[in-house]
This record gives sequence, C-alpha cells and structure tokens, in this order.
Amino acid sequence: MAVLKVLVIDDEPGIRSGVSRILNNFQVNYPFMDEDYTFEIQEAATGEDGIVIIDRDKPDILLLDNKLPGIQGIEVLEYVRNKKYDIVVVMITSYASLDVALKAHKFGATDFIPKPFTPQELKSSIENITKQQYLKRITHRMNEEGKKVRYQFLSVLSHELKAPLNAIEGYLRMMQEKQSGDRIEDYVTPIERSLQRIQGMRNLIMDLLDFTKIQLERKDEKIEEVHLSNIASSAIVTVQPYAIQMEVSIRLTVKTDAVIMADPTDMEIIFNNLISNSVKYNRRGGKAEIIIDCEKDDVVIAFTDTGIGITETDRENLFAEFVRIKNEKTRNISGSGLGLSIVKKVIELYNGIIAVESVADVGSTFTVRLPKKQTVNAQQT
Ligand code: ADP
Repeated sequence: MAVLKVLVIDDEPGIRSGVSRILNNFQVNYPFMDEDYTFEIQEAATGEDGIVIIDRDKPDILLLDNKLPGIQGIEVLEYVRNKKYDIVVVMITSYASLDVALKAHKFGATDFIPKPFTPQELKSSIENITKQQYLKRITHRMNEEGKKVRYQFLSVLSHELKAPLNAIEGYLRMMQEKQSGDRIEDYVTPIERSLQRIQGMRNLIMDLLDFTKIQLERKDEKIEEVHLSNIASSAIVTVQPYAIQMEVSIRLTVKTDAVIMADPTDMEIIFNNLISNSVKYNRRGGKAEIIIDCEKDDVVIAFTDTGIGITETDRENLFAEFVRIKNEKTRNISGSGLGLSIVKKVIELYNGIIAVESVADVGSTFTVRLPKKQTVNAQQT
C-alpha cells in the first residue's frame, strides 16, 4: 500500500472537511500498478498556514483554492514553483478569471476543479494524478536502479581487472629483471600464473559482454530448433579442461532429447554458466551431473553438483547482479557475480523459471524449466 500526502488549502471549512471525507476512504488502483494508493489528508484555512505545512511535510498533491483571506492561491502556487517543490497542484476555484487561469497554468497547475464539485469530480482528478505520480515513481526507481547497475558494472570491471593486471605486471618485471635466472624454464610458474590471470580476465569480459547483450535491445536473435543435448555436450567440452584441473567429473544424462525453439546463443549462456559453476564451486574429486528431461510442455534441466553448497540466507539474493557469496570456501575463487543474474534474465525471456536447492557442504541443484514452445518474450525483446 502506497500513500500520497494531500494538502487542501481552502478557507471554507465545509470544503476542507468534504475533501477529507471523500479521500480518506478512497483507494486508487490500476491493473498495471503493483500496489494500491491511499491518501493522507491535511488541511489549512489560509495560504500562510498552507506554506508552513508545505515546507514541513512536502505533500504530493495540493488542492488549492485561489480566493483566500491573506495571500492568494496563485501566490502559494508561485511559492511552490519557486521553491522547486515536486508537488502536483490542483486549483479548486468557483470563479477563476482568465487571468488567474492563465497564471495558474503558467506556474504548472495540473488541473482545475470547479466549485462546488461532486465527489466524483474530485475522485477523477485524484485518479489521474495518482496514475501520473505512480509512473513518475516507477521511472525514478528505474533510473536509480539503472544508475546503480552502471556504477556496479564499472566498479566491478575496474576492481576485477586491476588485480590480475598488477599480478601479470609483477611477473613480467620479475622476468625483465631476471630475478629467478637466465633461462625461460626458470619462469614456468610466473608464466602459468599469468596465463591463468589472463583466462580470468577473459571470463570476466565474456560475462560482461553477455550481460550487456541481454541488457540492451536484442536485435539479431535467431530463433530456431535447438537440441539441448547438443548445447550441453559442447558446454561440457568447453568446461572440461577446467574440470580436469579441478578433478571434477561431469556426466550428462539425456532422459528425453529436448528440442526447444530458441536462440542457440541464449541456451549456451545458460549451460555454460551453470556447468562451469558446478565445477567451480565443487570440491576436488567431486561430481557434476546434467539431467535433461521433458515434463508435459516443459523442458526440465537439472544441474547437480557435490560442491560447497549455498546456505538458505545466501540463496535469497543469489540471482541479483554482482552478488558473490563471500566466505572461507569461496575466498580464492574468482568471478564477477554476474553469471546467475544473466542466466535468470535469459530464462525469463523464454518464460522459464530457475530454482535452486542446496545443502551446505553437500551440494547444489539448479533446476531450469523452459516451455518447449516458442514464446512471445523471446521473439519480442
Ligand atoms: P560468479 O561465479 O562469477 O561469482 P555467479 O552469478 O555465477 O557469479 O554466482 C554467484 C555466486 O553464487 C557465486 O559467487 C557463488 O558463491 C554462488 N554459486 C553459484 N553457483 C554455485 C554452486 N553450484 N555451488 C555453490 N555456490 C554457487
């Protein structure tokens, strides 16, 4: 439930109490709104008293009579605009001269309600304003979120690239100064470590590219018949060198060869990320299994591992951007915290869902459910 603060400034007590009575029990809801809007009413009999409340409480909506005993409504409106307050102003007035109406319009009055007004006239005006306020709040929230994501994006990028670059620079200087000897064989470890750091940077860049790709407009999608078992097999081939290094065995079980209408690149993103996570967060000698099956109209893919697991608290935010679980077990594992958020966004494009079950130190299962039929989201975005 969201609340909009309404201030009514009118010298007629009957109007003030009428507005309070009508709006106190009024709720606005449009199908596109995620919550109902209600109203909190304050009253002032003069412009001077009204300005005190405006400065103090910053109402969202001002219902303003023009003919007031002291300063006039239009002057209150002018005051609000000069102060650059974000308040929607509705003039309630019985005889607005053209001059007053023009001035009110110039100072950004949103609406005029003639006096006397019916409850319905007041409600319609408030309904419209509420709709505008809602859209304004949503736009503001989206801009803020966008800014936050862009900021995180840049800070992750600079932070995650700085460390490997420093390390590689250190190794190269070591070689330049011939700190360990004259032969190339004396530098096997720094060379290997440099290559690993380069691979880490490459992974990060790939994540960021995937992330940008799904954040931006998706123009060059190619929806076609995709055999998920093929996608799984090639993802396993890609991850295999890493799995060998981690001593993790990967098994693919295809119970039903699922065919889905999709862009193959999107399916690769899902499989590459989830398989590489089940290797990356596994234990030495552990197992990772991918099971592909069909249930009615859906394809169901389970990615199971015998790894470090994820506690219930850590699972809450797992699919948000840049979320990485920080503890002793993950301290030496590098990543961007973008993989799962990318996977979730892609799955949602296909009207699918992803869920996770996990037991700390035993392992995790990520289950992906995708409708087999081509879906509207995937085509439109
Ligand atoms: P990244 O691996 O780049 O950190 P992800 O978005 O892929 O980013 O994963 C977010 C976090 O979720 C990881 O940092 C890790 O702590 C946790 N996580 C992901 N997959 C698993 C898994 N299979 N087992 C345990 N923890 C996992």
